[in-house]
Amino acid sequence: MGKVYLIGAGPGDPGLLTLKGKEILETADVVVYDYLANKEFLSFCRRDAEIIYVGKKGGDHTLPQEKINDLLVDKVKQGLNVARLKGGDPYVFGRGGEEAEDLLQAGADFEVVPGVTSAVAAPAYAGIPLTHREYSSSVSFITGHEDPSKEESAHNWQALAASTNTLVFFMGIKNLSSISRNLTGAGMDPETPAALVRWGTTCRQQTVEGTIADIPRVAEEKGIRPPALLVVGEVVRLRSKLNWFERLPLLGRKVVVTRARQQASGLVRRLEDLGACCLEFPTISIEPLDDYSGVDEAITNLDMYDWLVFTSVNGVLHFWERLARAGLDSRALGFCRVAAIGPATADALRERGIFPDFVPDKYVAESVVEGLLKLGINNANVLIPRAKEAREVLPRELEKAGARVSILPVYETRLAGTGGEDPRDLLDNGNIDYVTFTSSSTVRNFFSLVPAEDVREYVRNGLCLACIGPITADTLREFGFEPEITAAEYTIPGLVDALLLRAGEVAQTEDG
Ligand code: SAH
Repeated sequence: MGKVYLIGAGPGDPGLLTLKGKEILETADVVVYDYLANKEFLSFCRRDAEIIYVGKKGGDHTLPQEKINDLLVDKVKQGLNVARLKGGDPYVFGRGGEEAEDLLQAGADFEVVPGVTSAVAAPAYAGIPLTHREYSSSVSFITGHEDPSKEESAHNWQALAASTNTLVFFMGIKNLSSISRNLTGAGMDPETPAALVRWGTTCRQQTVEGTIADIPRVAEEKGIRPPALLVVGEVVRLRSKLNWFERLPLLGRKVVVTRARQQASGLVRRLEDLGACCLEFPTISIEPLDDYSGVDEAITNLDMYDWLVFTSVNGVLHFWERLARAGLDSRALGFCRVAAIGPATADALRERGIFPDFVPDKYVAESVVEGLLKLGINNANVLIPRAKEAREVLPRELEKAGARVSILPVYETRLAGTGGEDPRDLLDNGNIDYVTFTSSSTVRNFFSLVPAEDVREYVRNGLCLACIGPITADTLREFGFEPEITAAEYTIPGLVDALLLRAGEVAQTEDG
């Protein structure tokens, strides 16, 4: 027999999954997840794990609860370990108790991995501490899902209304008016502060505030739909001071990342930390070569070269991969000097024990040539491990400066497909704020996947095109678009800074 792990997936921010939950996901044979569980976690799963979606968006139950329980029991009996991933905490309005009872009855083993419930996390991200020595000394978690036509409410509204509690209602959007009426009818001060937090802890988080009497009207006006929590109590007032998350400079901005999937994570992480919603639209895929004989030969003759010039992290990765295959390590570079074209490439080298002899101040090919000239590149033998198709500026200029240059393709970039999906869907139907281009090939490939007239329409609707540097910007102009943002420093952090600057300017004009 296997085991079922009822795992709390947390409220939405992927960083709020527990370490134990992650560990179990990494080894489970089967993963069963619902609507509110962050799909990003599926990337932790084994490649061969069976992944089953069981839905539950409002009334839409992809699989009814009994069927879910049967499914879990069935899998355990086959000897499989099952990770049952549930939004928030499994035992807080998550029916985890029922699933556990059924498993027990079927003789199946289970464990619970608690999660960060949305009831705690969403208010925290909205600037509302649930308890506070001045305002509230207890909290209630309440379902707002009760059928309002029910004769006898299970809730003791008098008690709820009379306490100095903080009240947190789950699933309360549909019944907001009756919750409001029940509380004020039972004597709660109609001026008691109330807030609704929708999609808490995610880049889509939205909070609206009012009083317990007028919150249904506010929700209606602002179009608040599930999933949202209703928080009632004096602690809501602290939000004006403590609201940190919704002040993140890029909160809710939709940013398309066109880098290859393998390279996207650094940019995505930086943007998400600033509150952005990233849409990954990889236009490039980085692939190994079919034939490495040229590389292997160069590696055995490394002592022929005076300089090795690396132009990308991928160049470093693939070069070292071949070194390792030949049973060699960084010492094989002991005969030559090493240059890196940018800071990320330099870091990749340092991680491998090579401290580059040269890193330019500005991160384009032209500055590398200038710098290397000063270090006496003429007459030198230079090897450039890089992508099969890349700009010719660097080798050409180095040759002009009197170097003997050998280009060594160590990987290739290919046009990535959209996996059969309509690019419009991937781009959220053009409902996007920024598209980021991190190289000329991301620009070219983007326009081979998305028709220029679509992009023009998006731009008319406010889409802003952002380039990592002047060369990428020129490529964009070839397609008839003027970049609104070009990074001042031609690196990923530089690009993020440029987006921030622009977001700040927009916010100022909005305020003014
Ligand atoms: N077990 C979950 C709750 C599941 S019930 C937990 O512990 O969080 C589903 C309800 O939870 C939703 O209708 C909504 O009221 C609330 N909810 C879940 N995630 C939320 C989020 N990120 N933001 C706001 N409310 C959320």
